[in-house]
Amino acid sequence: MNDELKNDYLIVGQGVAGTMLAHFLLKAGKTIAVIDAPDQQAASNVAAGIINPVTGRRIVKSWRIEELLPFAVATYREIEARFGVEIFTKKNILRSFDTNKQFQDWSVKSGREDMCDYISDECDASHLNGIIKPKFAWGEIHSSGRTDLAVLTSIYRNFFINNNAFFAEKFNYNEIEFDDNKLIYNKIKTTKIIFCEGWRSCFNPYFNDLPHEAAKGELLIIRIPDVQLNKMIKSGVFVVPIGDEKYWVGSTYEWDDLNDTPTQAARTDLITRLQKILEVPYEILEHHAAVRPVFKHRRPVIGLHSKHPQLGIFNGLGTKGASIAPFWAAHFCRHLCEGTPLDEEVDVRVLMI
Ligand SMILES: Cc1cc2nc3c(=O)[nH]c(=O)nc-3n(C[C@H](O)[C@H](O)[C@H](O)COP(=O)(O)OP(=O)(O)OC[C@H]3O[C@@H](n4cnc5c(N)ncnc54)[C@H](O)[C@@H]3O)c2cc1C
Repeated sequence: MNDELKNDYLIVGQGVAGTMLAHFLLKAGKTIAVIDAPDQQAASNVAAGIINPVTGRRIVKSWRIEELLPFAVATYREIEARFGVEIFTKKNILRSFDTNKQFQDWSVKSGREDMCDYISDECDASHLNGIIKPKFAWGEIHSSGRTDLAVLTSIYRNFFINNNAFFAEKFNYNEIEFDDNKLIYNKIKTTKIIFCEGWRSCFNPYFNDLPHEAAKGELLIIRIPDVQLNKMIKSGVFVVPIGDEKYWVGSTYEWDDLNDTPTQAARTDLITRLQKILEVPYEILEHHAAVRPVFKHRRPVIGLHSKHPQLGIFNGLGTKGASIAPFWAAHFCRHLCEGTPLDEEVDVRVLMI
């Protein structure tokens, strides 16, 4: 490691959490270095990156979506303009219904003033004929889209590498030296270390007593030749167009077997669900697994350690990293740089008391 490296923040983990925090700290004029272990799968690397403002069987708006969604889109647009790449694509979601009751519930919700910007019961699904098996009815979700988290993290990784601010290695907690109001890690001098480790924060001795409840997820990348689906489809499984006749298909949930290894059981499950909806032949190109960083209370966890305030955490993005990471990274950045209070809903110290 570089003998002379001094910076304001050392960020451990460069999924979407670490990337977004780095983005806002750099914007605030801070200096940073980033460490990420190259041989570990990041959830951000395999996620579909779907931003879905409406979730669940009860058809409710996602948590704080009015604040989170416009902020996320504006942030991705800003990064796109800066690096000249496409990160966020606006794409509606077609959601299927198997019964009249399900569709009526959707229809009633779509007529509500607070929901009509997000969902509609009128949609033309005729282009699905011959591709997707017939369903009782379809509804449409607006304001949704897809963030290419793999592109986002890789353009920032190259940026850090080009600025000699990236270390491809696993962080070793035993090597932190606490020295008055600074820290030394392997000759990097810094004022704070912020852990953005995703689900692996359960192995971090400073944060391992938080209520971790990570969930492994698996997905397939398939090719459907000669078919052009432009919208995302939610029908027992998500089918997300990612270009070149390729589609992201997922995903599964598993809470006990936490690792990055794809399994035959999940592959069979995804194929079964896919066969229930697809009428055309397809080819499986890839199969991946990763673990979503989830806490029991299903909220992000942000802030500085109650006993070691030189150490912080930005985690718990759960199933929604694409929509929530930008807003909470900016929130944490203001807390770090300007001392603004953290929202109690996400403050790690509330969990550490
Ligand atoms: C199958 C699947 C589908 C998903 N689909 C969506 C979706 O459609 N939309 C959505 O918004 N979200 C989705 N998610 C969730 C999304 O992936 C997460 O919310 C988000 O990626 C979490 O980002 P993160 O940066 O916290 O963690 P990660 O992306 O896991 O990044 C953590 C990084 O820290 C590194 N690290 C950890 N410990 C250390 C250490 N000690 N030293 C060095 N490096 C370390 C890891 O190697 C990794 O690179 C999905 C997740 C999965 C698994």
